[in-house]
Amino acid sequence: MPQHAVVTGGGSGIGLAIARELAGRGYSVSVLGRNRSRIDAAAAALPGARAQVCDVADSQSVRDAFAAVKGRAGPVAVLVNNAGVVRTAPFSRQCDSDWDVMWRTNVLGAVNTTREVLGPMRELPTGRIINIASTASLKGYPYVSAYVATKHALLGLTRALALELAATSITVNAICPGYADTEIIGEAVSHIVEKTGRSAEDARATFTTTNPQGRLIDPSEVAAAVAWLITDAARSITGQAIAVAGGEV
Ligand code: NDP
Repeated sequence: MPQHAVVTGGGSGIGLAIARELAGRGYSVSVLGRNRSRIDAAAAALPGARAQVCDVADSQSVRDAFAAVKGRAGPVAVLVNNAGVVRTAPFSRQCDSDWDVMWRTNVLGAVNTTREVLGPMRELPTGRIINIASTASLKGYPYVSAYVATKHALLGLTRALALELAATSITVNAICPGYADTEIIGEAVSHIVEKTGRSAEDARATFTTTNPQGRLIDPSEVAAAVAWLITDAARSITGQAIAVAGGEV
């Protein structure tokens, strides 16, 4: 039976690239997300994959979703906590609901899913928990204070859990991409254009110029880091923040 990998937010962007990478390496991939048509389309294009509706911010939804996918594909050997949201605004205009949705999704989302996999994962020969954090886990950025705070928290969770599990065969790591070429950035560009009247090209430059290589990260580059972390050769890599960011940090 192929090993079971779960990718949250696997229907788009970085998550989709990771799901594709894992399916290509023979994993039985469960693609989780809230948007049914998007995860169905993603899973249909991947050999041996399945789609499962799941809101990672809702612990009951996570319990139900993991019961369903574990029933179909067995204990989870690789968990990729990729689901994430960002809301952009100056600190003084970030309201309770912005903080709430980012905390629940970007931090508690990973807590909820990790709780569902840890017990059975301990019984497997190897386990991998990979949190898609951000360069915003390692430095600050203006106008995204809640996002930066939650991504720092996700890295803290990664480091603590890695130590707690160091005596097991499970590793826990964070991958920290710089600005990547996905919908999140597309939406941020539209938001800047709407709020400031700047051109789309100028708004996009906000994101490419922070990367010393002067470009957006391709989602496949993040997937390649996942592909390395799941190897046996990476068994000593745990509690790390692996930046995929063109030298930004
Ligand atoms: P996308 O918006 O394409 O992906 C986010 C995914 O998360 C979507 O598939 C979405 O699916 C899913 N998602 C959001 N909320 C929930 C939820 N409550 N439950 C389940 N799934 C959810 O953006 P990216 O691919 O760029 O983002 C992926 C990750 O990478 C995020 O954690 C992001 O913070 C991180 N990242 C992105 C960077 C970038 O510049 N793009 C840079 C650094 C990190 P659905 O709406 O169907 O639920």
